[in-house]
Amino acid sequence: MSMKEATLPKVQTKLFINGEWIDGDNKETKDIVNPANGEVIAKVVQAGPNETKQAINAAKEAFPDWAKMELADRVKLLHKIADLMEERADTLAKIMTIEQGKPLKESKGEVLTGAENFRFAAEEARRLYGETIPAPNNHAFIVKKQPIGVVAAITPWNFPGGMVTRKLAPALATGNTIVLKPSGDTPLSALAIFEIFEEAGLPKGVANIVMGSSKEIGETLTDSDDVRKLTFTGSTKVGQTLFKQSAETLKKISLELGGHAPFIVFDDANLDAAVNDLVAAKFRNNGQVCVSPNRIFVAKEIKDKFTKALVSEVEKLKVGNGLGDVNVGPLIREDAIDKIDKQLKNATDKGAKVLTGGGRLTGSDYDKGNFYKPTVLDNVTREMDIFYEETFGPVIPLITFETEDEAIEMANDSEFGLASYFYTKDLARVEKVGSALEYGMVGANEIAISNPETPFGGVKHSGFGRENGHYGMEEYIQVKFINLKYRD
Ligand code: NAP
Repeated sequence: MSMKEATLPKVQTKLFINGEWIDGDNKETKDIVNPANGEVIAKVVQAGPNETKQAINAAKEAFPDWAKMELADRVKLLHKIADLMEERADTLAKIMTIEQGKPLKESKGEVLTGAENFRFAAEEARRLYGETIPAPNNHAFIVKKQPIGVVAAITPWNFPGGMVTRKLAPALATGNTIVLKPSGDTPLSALAIFEIFEEAGLPKGVANIVMGSSKEIGETLTDSDDVRKLTFTGSTKVGQTLFKQSAETLKKISLELGGHAPFIVFDDANLDAAVNDLVAAKFRNNGQVCVSPNRIFVAKEIKDKFTKALVSEVEKLKVGNGLGDVNVGPLIREDAIDKIDKQLKNATDKGAKVLTGGGRLTGSDYDKGNFYKPTVLDNVTREMDIFYEETFGPVIPLITFETEDEAIEMANDSEFGLASYFYTKDLARVEKVGSALEYGMVGANEIAISNPETPFGGVKHSGFGRENGHYGMEEYIQVKFINLKYRD
């Protein structure tokens, strides 16, 4: 690839507060690093409590006018944002791949889904129906759905655009104003979306973005009584901290946290479909996905056949810089490699067997980035850390089962409850297993569980609240009851 192709497109690096791109008080910046080659691609302005308070104030001031803007005008503006995202999809995708590593095709898909988030939210805002409830004579019981106020959003690095649009589209469509803190590793995709907000004509103060110390910014957001809602996607540990911190100010909260998805292949499954779907789901974004299949339960009768086909498909994957023609990019940071190595060592020490992969990729361009071999690990048991810990990398752990009940029991043996998948042709089994899995989402012979129209979210330590669909809109409204008496 030429130097020109590998260069970061022009994108803002400053804070956006009250409609202005500004530097932080301390004039500090943070280096943003391309995980494919270790190069510093941008220096991004850093903020602290002071700038965060300014952003909260700007959002508070902007709220009344934004909340009462004619719905038709708000809908038009959100469609304009979607239009601009679609027009610039190639540029936005390139920014995403250079800062995060995923293959360009995946980045473009994420950008287009982001545009779709804005279209869906704009249209759904027209259907944010209230209710009238049967009331005594001379009265009307009216239920209205109103925006909450200032929303704080904190997002992770694995979907640097998608996690932002999923939150901001419904929050804005329902009439709220925003302070966003994107991941410190990947703020550029979020900044590119804010450039589009500005160009589309979003009124000043309606959406603000701050980067900097996540602890300080997080505390300022949770301590503020002006912030009435917190929406967070990230690790369970940070989610728990933010939940605790929000107790004093009693915020409405949604938490999309970690996952450890089971993927069950029953003896009557379409094996080709199960293998292809598993490889597609597992190696999407190099396994750095909260809904990535992490524990693969395979029926004893088909285990050998399934494993052979799986290893053959995994060995075909091409790993490299996401800007090139590859299936899998680098991991986000060096410490991600250490975590996977540690999980693998713990498993092999206890009897697991590496069938393919099993270590860092080295040599030529691989030495500059965080590349890992796509890995299949057999004979995994509950004694190993990988059975219970989220992997967040390109490892497929195989576990053999004998009965349907055993598969369900093992699949549910996790503190997490986000996504789950199973493959079978038996409809009675679909009903039984689909109901028994303790997960917020179930893919039955299907891996596409994340769509702009359908509820996305988890149970147990995967958090609460839903994104996408009309459920995602409900997270950003409050219900008001009015008892109207017509005459004295
Ligand atoms: P993370 O460490 O929890 O970080 C997520 C966000 O929280 C980042 O913006 C981070 O900022 C910020 N943060 C960290 N410490 C904070 C604090 N004390 N107060 C306020 N904010 C704080 O998670 P990650 O490593 O970025 O993402 C991986 C995790 O996210 C995985 O567990 C994955 O399963 C989960 N995830 C869940 C979903 C879902 O929808 N359920 C989707 C994607 C990812 P800095 O980066 O600046 O520190």
